[in-house]
Amino acid sequence: MTPRQAVRRPGHDDAARAEELSRRFAELYGHAPDGVWRAPGRVNLIGEHTDYNEGLVLPFAIDRSAMAAVRLRRDPGPAPEHGQEHGPGHGEEREPAGHDVVDLASTWAPDGSGLSRARFRIPQLRPGTVPGWGAYPAGVVHVLDGLDGVEVPGFELLLDSTVPVGAGLSSSHAVEVATVVALNDLLGLGLDRPEMARLTQRAENEFVGAPTGIMDQSASLRARAGAALFLDCRSLEAELVPLPVAEHGLTVLVIDTKVAHSHADGGYGARRASCERGAAALGAATLRDVPDGADLGVLDEETARRVRHVRSENRRVLETVTRLRAGDVRGIGTLLTASHTSLRDDFEVSCPELDLAVDTALAAGAVGARMTGGGFGGSAIALVPAARADRVRDVVTEAFAAAGLRAPDVFAVAPGEGAGRVR
Ligand code: ADP
Ligand code: MG
Repeated sequence: MTPRQAVRRPGHDDAARAEELSRRFAELYGHAPDGVWRAPGRVNLIGEHTDYNEGLVLPFAIDRSAMAAVRLRRDPGPAPEHGQEHGPGHGEEREPAGHDVVDLASTWAPDGSGLSRARFRIPQLRPGTVPGWGAYPAGVVHVLDGLDGVEVPGFELLLDSTVPVGAGLSSSHAVEVATVVALNDLLGLGLDRPEMARLTQRAENEFVGAPTGIMDQSASLRARAGAALFLDCRSLEAELVPLPVAEHGLTVLVIDTKVAHSHADGGYGARRASCERGAAALGAATLRDVPDGADLGVLDEETARRVRHVRSENRRVLETVTRLRAGDVRGIGTLLTASHTSLRDDFEVSCPELDLAVDTALAAGAVGARMTGGGFGGSAIALVPAARADRVRDVVTEAFAAAGLRAPDVFAVAPGEGAGRVR
């Protein structure tokens, strides 16, 4: 087994996964699904905390995805009678399905207890009415149902995902995107990918209540295999940039620190507020509008560092794209590491575990490494020579053990295909 295979987890055959999911769907719901759709998680190569500042990002879709088997209700049972909605007093009773009832199931449960289920009626959807993970698909349904001329019928859905939850690889967006591509196809809505990205962002902002940007959904929807997505979060113009990592003898390792984080955490909101304050103090609508020579001296010291990160990060994204276009994959390593330093010192969203992952990966031979995602935990990425991937994994794992930390999960990811129908 080559070192590169050693850190790659087996079992990513989409067709076989989809077949197995269809089988489980039939077992659960008593009939075959209409189809199976997949939506990948993402790694943000560079461009962190720039998305909500209308800046530049460069994520790629990874070869791990959420898969959803879905069947629209076409033989509606009797519509639930008045007052029969799911709620207190109805316990776990499964009522006869009405035409507007959505049944959700996932092979993942928050407590690791196997299948978890949720049920709601579409007309009764309001923010806060669907607890837990069901809010992600429910938010998508709610937003689509609110579009002019669209009425989403009830459906059954079974979800299975290989995107690790809470690792900063956007497992939540994978769930939303799998739902939106499935409904777009089944209902013939004809939405294009930028539209679907905007709608899932609205689902997340308005229904789930998380003030997240547009990058994660865009990566899942618009990235392609072997490429990164150079996305301007202001215009939403996107361009695919070749990312031939393996061809250059390199591997991207994800180091999941297993430190819990949540975008709902105050830190994320505080950074957004800081950026808005900074832009306003500089007389600009967003940090994207601040001219290059602007005097940051009018800002307090902390806000100035926040602004400096966002602006320098935008420049690093541009430089990364330039180097990738020139075929210099190895050359982006120093930019990744510079991004981490800026996120650690200027934006202050790293944490000891992420710093340890980055520092030890670099010491073990990575050509570049950085935290990725919102920060305060989650994952780091390291660009490593393929032949050193095992060594880097071992050194990082040993360093975590020596520091008395929980063992990180270290695995390779490749730039994979964007969301779509599998069968
Ligand atoms: P991440 O960085 O992985 O997106 P989040 O905290 O934003 O972390 O999202 C994780 C949440 O997404 C989970 O708590 C759950 O609600 C939902 N989720 C992710 N994967 C699944 C899945 N396979 N089945 C059900 N819900 C999921
Ligand atoms: Mg998320």
